[in-house]
Amino acid sequence: MTIGILGGGQLGYMLALAGYPLGLHFRFLDPSPQAPVGRIAHRVTAEYSDHDALEKFAHGLELVTYEFENVPVEAARFLAKHVPVYPPPEALEAAQDRLNEKTLFKKLGIATTSFVEVNGASDVDAAAKKIGLPAVLKTRRMGYDGKGQWVLRTREDVEFVKREFPTTPLLLENFVAFQRELSVLAARSRSDETAFYPLVENHHRGGILRLSVAPAPDLSAKLQRAAESAARRLMEELNYVGVLAIEFFECNGELVANEMAPRVHNSGHWSIEGAVTSQFENHLRAVMGLPLGSTATLGVSAMLNLIGEVPEPGEMLAIPDAHLHLYGKSLRPGRKVGHVTLRAASFEELKHRLAQLPGFFQRPEFCLAARPIATAG
Ligand code: AMP
Repeated sequence: MTIGILGGGQLGYMLALAGYPLGLHFRFLDPSPQAPVGRIAHRVTAEYSDHDALEKFAHGLELVTYEFENVPVEAARFLAKHVPVYPPPEALEAAQDRLNEKTLFKKLGIATTSFVEVNGASDVDAAAKKIGLPAVLKTRRMGYDGKGQWVLRTREDVEFVKREFPTTPLLLENFVAFQRELSVLAARSRSDETAFYPLVENHHRGGILRLSVAPAPDLSAKLQRAAESAARRLMEELNYVGVLAIEFFECNGELVANEMAPRVHNSGHWSIEGAVTSQFENHLRAVMGLPLGSTATLGVSAMLNLIGEVPEPGEMLAIPDAHLHLYGKSLRPGRKVGHVTLRAASFEELKHRLAQLPGFFQRPEFCLAARPIATAG
């Protein structure tokens, strides 16, 4: 049985690694001849707009899924004429445009930021007046890892935006003074079964995820219920199949949805060692209509992203229950090239393990001084 995956980055890489024990084969399509999955699976190098290549790619596949949410919706729709595509292209469409995404949250009664569409310089003043400052300006499309967004604090910032982006489709939203950032990973299978991982606490630097702690320390049943309810509503509305991630701000004990990703997610990497069934395996189970696996945690975990550089593997692996994942990508500043998961029986022990990490990790960008690590236990 061969599964087709659009996108050949590290998420695809880890999907394939989770699928091999289930006897699955994988075929990837990615425009880049350097896509890391080439090391471990059959990789087709072609543009998403190349219909001949897509048709050839689809031949003999059981189904197609994706690991990259900026796959053109048109490519997913074209493939869906030849082979089942999960999650449905409508989910891709909703998640690719921040305006559609937030409008959908609002329609489903999922609390989100206030937002206004900005279609050109002439809209900016009215939008800033409506939302108030500080505010966050985001491109509607193709924003990720903090790219395509700017915090506006002063009138000068507003004037700058009018000059810089006279015609780009944008969204202005209120700046949320959140207590922390959380995310939930949910899965829904072809046979309607659902499963939810516990909320995870995330720490970013420069817009990039650096540290996730799972489960989120001091996680109340109320917050977990709210996250599951939001995920359930979205999955039902979109007739969703696969793993869905939703990122939230926690603000005065409530969740405010920031964005969703119709795919496996960086804040779920801990689940490879930290849960009975990883997000990658559950995504594959979901799209194949197999029973979902348990999302129960195995102790507590901390996942640290390796951005642009990697530590000395020997030093890392000397730490008990430390798990190193390198994606086989060339090292470049700002690029996610691997991650490390530390697992422990308690937050106290996790804190101790994190303190044992080599000097490489003791720099501020790894967010080890973050609240949960400093105070949990
Ligand atoms: P995003 O690309 O929307 O995931 O944003 C990346 C990061 O920027 C988030 O994880 C937050 O740390 C921050 N951020 C985004 N939107 C807001 C907002 N409305 N208020 C405060 N911080 C934000």
